[in-house]
Amino acid sequence: MKILAVGRNYVEHIKELNNERPTDPVIFMKPDTAVLRNNAPFYYPSFSNDIHYEVELVLKVSKMGKNINEKFAQKYYDEIGIGIDFTARDLQRKAKEKGLPWALAKGFNGSAPVSQFIPKNELGKLTDISFSLKADNEIKQEGNTSMMLFNFDYIVSYLSSFFTLKKGDLIFTGTPAGVGPIKIGQKLTAFIENEKLLECEIK
Ligand code: MG
Repeated sequence: MKILAVGRNYVEHIKELNNERPTDPVIFMKPDTAVLRNNAPFYYPSFSNDIHYEVELVLKVSKMGKNINEKFAQKYYDEIGIGIDFTARDLQRKAKEKGLPWALAKGFNGSAPVSQFIPKNELGKLTDISFSLKADNEIKQEGNTSMMLFNFDYIVSYLSSFFTLKKGDLIFTGTPAGVGPIKIGQKLTAFIENEKLLECEIK
């Protein structure tokens, strides 16, 4: 199983990190050891002092495919969940300055908590899904898929032209504005519409 992720996919988030608006999706990967399931806690690692939450909708690939036409992309994912793309912002800043890869900043152990998945046909219009993140009951991030630069079908099609997608692969689809640092003792909760789907305690 692999985890593919899109960076810089919501305009307001691009602005808050002073990044350029991309003409093609910015893609990175996390290893399968990044996944935290069943609301498992996240243990703050010693190599970073500035880990940020980034709440994101996550697609689960339902069958193998490559070079998928955007028109048929919907057939390759049937469930959607919510996840957090934990990012060691200090390591990422260093990597960006030197033009180096983000593997360490994005792929460390536990950097991808994911919720249970919901059949996508229960979510209504995929271009109008609201989602949010709270830290200790305070709303930190709110997004809606209408604000994406690259929509789900485009992302699936684009990724599949480089990587063969396999059943069970996860695709993180980008974070809206409001990212910020996590603290030990905090409890993060993530919602699709008003349904709480994910909890993650920082230890
Ligand atoms: Mg992200």
